[in-house]
Amino acid sequence: MKTIASELAYFLRGRARKNLKVLFIYCTFLVVLILIYAVLFRALMWNLEGREFSFIAGIYWAITVMTTLGFGDITFHTDLGYVFATVVTLSGVIFLLIILPFGMISLFLAPWIEDRLRYRPSSELPEGTADHIVIFGINAITRAFIRKLQALGLPFVVVTPDHDEAMKLEDDEGMSVICGSPTDVKVVAAAKSASARYIIANLSDPENVNICLTVRSHCQTPIAALVEDPEHAGLMHLAGANQVIPLHKLLGRYLAVRSTTCGALAHILDSFGDLKFAELPVHGTPFSGQTLQEAQIRQKTGLAVIGTWKRGKFTVPTSETVLEDDSLMMLAGTREQLKTLESLSGKEEEDLIFILGHGRIGCAAARFLEHKPVPFILVDQQENPSCTEHIPIYGDATIRHTLMSAGFEHAKGVIVTTNNDNTNVFLTLASRHMRPHIRIVARANYEENVDQLYEAGADFVVSNASVGASILLNVLESRASAFLTEGINVFRRSLPEKLIGLTIADSHIRPRTGCSIVALSVAGESDPRVSPPPETHLEAGANLILIGTPEQEVTFDAVFVKD
Ligand code: ADP
Ligand code: ZN
Repeated sequence: MKTIASELAYFLRGRARKNLKVLFIYCTFLVVLILIYAVLFRALMWNLEGREFSFIAGIYWAITVMTTLGFGDITFHTDLGYVFATVVTLSGVIFLLIILPFGMISLFLAPWIEDRLRYRPSSELPEGTADHIVIFGINAITRAFIRKLQALGLPFVVVTPDHDEAMKLEDDEGMSVICGSPTDVKVVAAAKSASARYIIANLSDPENVNICLTVRSHCQTPIAALVEDPEHAGLMHLAGANQVIPLHKLLGRYLAVRSTTCGALAHILDSFGDLKFAELPVHGTPFSGQTLQEAQIRQKTGLAVIGTWKRGKFTVPTSETVLEDDSLMMLAGTREQLKTLESLSGKEEEDLIFILGHGRIGCAAARFLEHKPVPFILVDQQENPSCTEHIPIYGDATIRHTLMSAGFEHAKGVIVTTNNDNTNVFLTLASRHMRPHIRIVARANYEENVDQLYEAGADFVVSNASVGASILLNVLESRASAFLTEGINVFRRSLPEKLIGLTIADSHIRPRTGCSIVALSVAGESDPRVSPPPETHLEAGANLILIGTPEQEVTFDAVFVKD
């Protein structure tokens, strides 16, 4: 029944639907033609032969003659009548017996057969497929992830139950696809999950739990599952996931960390044991406008400035780099050192963050600020049914009055986090216009809108897709990486044998791989040595903490770790 319905549904989609309209117009034309013939038949019979027939008899005559059935029970006996009957027969042959079947075949039957033959979605990967990544669920995040996999030349397969989607992904985008239900163990087996390198579950929480259970009933391949609700993480582990990624919570955190304007400790993004990474706006520190050399941050606090951000551009700084007021410094050091910096930064300004959009990500950002604690005001046009803790100001944030009456003129930072990128661009532009010096952190739901958001005046843009994809890639490569931001990883490696005994300068790590050493942890020393000078000797047992792009990280392993 379901198959018949899905086949019938074919005729209601796309080109078939258009053709159905053509068929309808053509049939209307045939009906009108038959009616005209019936009227002419009656008129000719009466005028030429004096015989009277009903209108129904006229229709009956026209149809039997047009279909060349010609029972012969009603016939003309005059020349003009014969001519008329011949015209009706010929037009019947043309319109009913030639054009109609031809049209039916070319408009419906042929495309339908072609559609069935052209694509039977693959139902199984070839025997022997191994070391690939099986992806359940395709959206902006997995698409960005796939682009990264393609760039690294890693094989993958997408599993989708949707025939049309499968067709589009395989035909138009050249991906390897299995069409089938993700919770069907046969489909899991067909994707050669047992020999796969990793399984990514990126559907709704209940579906992901089901996928984990299905996969676990079949094999022990590691699974990374994204969860919408962080409270479901435990269940996901219980169902068999090895890595659970609470993406909305992480995104909320990244937005929140970057939105606050004061207090270095509020800006810790990630840590490696005692080594913390923090991103701090230059604005509000005494270093604004100074070069790194003049600022003497390292000498005063022990912290290393490992990068600077300005409007989405990350640079590894030199001693000549100027710390511009509207840029951010990425710092590495201990909690104590960050505290020292905080005390240097002078008086703390009162912070106030506006969060525009109280969806899952806005709510997660609010939770993060709550813990700091940093005061915030949420604005949303509707209730968030899954949050009972926060009371937002209700109203459309695109209307100036909504923000102003909520006290926007006192805001120090704003997090723009609605689910619509156009709205986010608008809100960014409007916030910049209303408050030229406010700190704006915006969320991009699609990667292609990142540039527009920077263009509109955002200080920092967090793209859901890129962050999700980078986290997935880190999980996949089992890297001991701290994900700092798109395109930049901080990762730890034990000192490769090839480098034992060399100085940092002689190791040529930066020229050969592009990575820089952020810190060195030496056995027996409790604090890592941040930004060790080039003459430092690398001794056996040390751990390197490096910064670089994901590609540079791969190069590092290829050059120094692998044979
Ligand atoms: P996510 O869960 O990914 O954060 P949601 O769709 O749940 O995404 O959340 C987006 C939130 O943004 C919704 O609560 C929606 O009401 C809110 N929103 C969208 N447009 C506006 C607007 N113009 N003004 C205020 N809130 C908005
Ligand atoms: Zn909330």
